[in-house]
Amino acid sequence: MLSGMKGSRHRAIVVALILLILLAACGDEGVVDELVARSPTPDADVGASSPADPEPVEHDSASPTPTATPDADGVYVVPCNDIHAPLDKLHRLEADCAPVGLVAIPAAYSIGPQEVIDIVLPHLLALFEAAAAAGHRIAVVSSYRSYATQAETYRYHVNDLGLEQASRVSARAGHSEHQLGTTVDFSSAAVGFDLVQAFGDTPEGRWLAGRAHEFGFVMSYPEGLEDVTGYDYEPWHFRWVGQRMAEDVRARGLTLGEYLLR
Ligand SMILES: [Zn+2]
Repeated sequence: MLSGMKGSRHRAIVVALILLILLAACGDEGVVDELVARSPTPDADVGASSPADPEPVEHDSASPTPTATPDADGVYVVPCNDIHAPLDKLHRLEADCAPVGLVAIPAAYSIGPQEVIDIVLPHLLALFEAAAAAGHRIAVVSSYRSYATQAETYRYHVNDLGLEQASRVSARAGHSEHQLGTTVDFSSAAVGFDLVQAFGDTPEGRWLAGRAHEFGFVMSYPEGLEDVTGYDYEPWHFRWVGQRMAEDVRARGLTLGEYLLR
């Protein structure tokens, strides 16, 4: 088997060399240039869908190239480590996509161990300080979740609620903004640090809804917009996109998903 593969590789190399010699003999470099010019650029369309923004957008060159056309389920794969990649029911990350630079959120602001990527942490701490100055104690109760953890989370919700209800409150693995390392779920003592819609009516929830954008965070799933976002109201779920984009999203009156895909 191995010697057969070596034989076929050898033949392929010989054929390639003959082709190169023939092309050189023709002196027709235009043929090669034309072939190169016609080569597809698979990620051009995906990149073009992201709005221009001064925030750093890092791509992991070791990750698989994102597909510009949807897969068999109609789902697009978005680039790994692009903090502005759209993620919803039709856009997902690869299973092996993990953020670079995860750091611990200080225990004073966390319920259990929590992590975000390093560029987010100073903005999160500034948010906590501003909230504290206004008399609010807010804590992160969920943050980075790997593909595997999200698969468990989704399975838990399906077992608990059934498929239809689960899809309103939980993302399938790969589709969650929590896999980016930029997204946190906040809560407070007023609702027992639970993730419940009543949080939106607490002083802490109202403060976040009115101020989080100043620190670069956007509430991804606002009230009454399930038809647009695909998810029920989550007053606790905030994704960091940078202050400039967060303020622009708010000024335009769009959901984050609409903004990223416009
Ligand atoms: Zn969340």
